Amino acid sequence: MIRVQSVAPDSIGGELGLVPGTELVAVNGRALDDFLDWEFLTADERFLLAARLPTGEEVEYDIERPEGLPMGVTLEPPRIRRCGNHCDFCFVDGNPEGLRTPLYIRDDDYRLSFRYGNFATLTNLKPWDLERIVEYRLSPLYVSVHATDATIRRWLLRNPEAPDIVPQLGWFAERGIAFHTQVVLVPGVNDGVELERRARGGRPDGDASARRTGGAMVLWSRRSLPSGGRAAAGSRVVRGFRATRKRRRLGALSSDQDRGGRRSASRAGRDAHRGRDR
Ligand code: SF4
Repeated sequence: MIRVQSVAPDSIGGELGLVPGTELVAVNGRALDDFLDWEFLTADERFLLAARLPTGEEVEYDIERPEGLPMGVTLEPPRIRRCGNHCDFCFVDGNPEGLRTPLYIRDDDYRLSFRYGNFATLTNLKPWDLERIVEYRLSPLYVSVHATDATIRRWLLRNPEAPDIVPQLGWFAERGIAFHTQVVLVPGVNDGVELERRARGGRPDGDASARRTGGAMVLWSRRSLPSGGRAAAGSRVVRGFRATRKRRRLGALSSDQDRGGRRSASRAGRDAHRGRDR
């Protein structure tokens, strides 16, 4: 169930009598869980919408929606899926005190990855999430890879449960889902041989689907670690010429992927430009 926050006048929603607080329950009998369901299931020209008005009255609308005519409904913000990782370089943990509350939310949400270009690790996907990404064609996704070796990646994410990212991305690629990736580079951990392997998509031959794992890169210096403590990483990320230089050294990222990386940074805004996972 999702709830209406506001309704634009002179819209389909306004004509139906939807008001703030209306619960949108189902479209064509399919339960609505979030904004993705709302947007995808109401994209048809005709559908049945089940709703519950703030008065408690249950209503079913038979809607004909001429192409391009907006529903005019703004939904209450979704509940953000939180991150279950514990990276030493977490940008959220490194935030100074006193900022807006949302800046301290450690999100890891594939929906926001598709919608806003937030980077997600895909470590918290359930089987039904996988099906949904494919069904709704949530492409491209923005993925924090960090390492294609499963053990190294789990160590970097501090998450022993993190799935192996290479088969995961391969599974998506086979189903037509594209992705842009980023790496936070920790010298001595995921550079050197591991970095070269990652540039080939984690596979010795670097096949086509694996090459999709090219993308943005963030260099994080171990020297920036406060002695004996966790990283206050937000201000320690190194970008710009270093990333360019690395790209040239790798030689494996196509101009397409390079453009993809820039689009990713542009879509995700300042946070993604710094390689943030949020
Ligand atoms: S850097 Fe991203 S994935 Fe890692 S702990 Fe922070 S929010 Fe989670």
